Amino acid sequence: MPLSRAPQAFLGDGRLTVVSFDIDGTMEFGDPPGPIPVALAQAVADLGHVIGSGSDRTRADQSNLWAAHGVDVRFVGGKHHLPEVRERFPAERYVHIGDTDVDQHFARVADFEFFWSYQFDAD
Ligand SMILES: [Mg+2]
Repeated sequence: MPLSRAPQAFLGDGRLTVVSFDIDGTMEFGDPPGPIPVALAQAVADLGHVIGSGSDRTRADQSNLWAAHGVDVRFVGGKHHLPEVRERFPAERYVHIGDTDVDQHFARVADFEFFWSYQFDAD
């Protein structure tokens, strides 16, 4: 069960949540690879939450990566686009997961909760 690797405050109460994943250093298919398995992102989506990525990679590259791993994401964009994600998808919570201070910065600017990718590294 991939979500068992998530920290306790992540999706704890079932509120509709938008989850933005950084890719490099965060997702297992990033460069460098991060601790978050594709299966975890898919499990979040399967619960009805809105998932996508906020990465320094181009939108096309992000879309191709998710497609290559069989995940249907609702948005891709730069970390600085998180305010637009908030406008596009009404939800009760907004979360960004990343591995750098830059991720944390843009999460704060867009009023997203922030989780470090290493918080998902339960092994
Ligand atoms: Mg990163």
